[in-house]
Amino acid sequence: MDGSSKDGFPEDSAVGGRLHYRLCPHCLRAVPAGLNERYCVNDGTRLLEGCPVCQRSISSPYAHFCAACGHPFALPAREEPR
Ligand SMILES: [Zn+2]
Ligand SMILES: [Zn+2]
Repeated sequence: MDGSSKDGFPEDSAVGGRLHYRLCPHCLRAVPAGLNERYCVNDGTRLLEGCPVCQRSISSPYAHFCAACGHPFALPAREEPR
């Protein structure tokens, strides 16, 4: 048996099960917290490190709402009045 390392789960990519993300409230781009990016590279908006209401960390890069309190992460659309 020489394939034991190939068949197992890749332990290196599992970051202790505590991987979380920072999220841009403007374009909803998610960045793994481990990258230490603080601002969105698309629009310069400061990334959310967690829910602004209950401080819960964002555990999914696809999260658009807080899993704990339902607060929307996206900024309200602000369209310029014509
Ligand atoms: Zn952005
Ligand atoms: Zn929350």
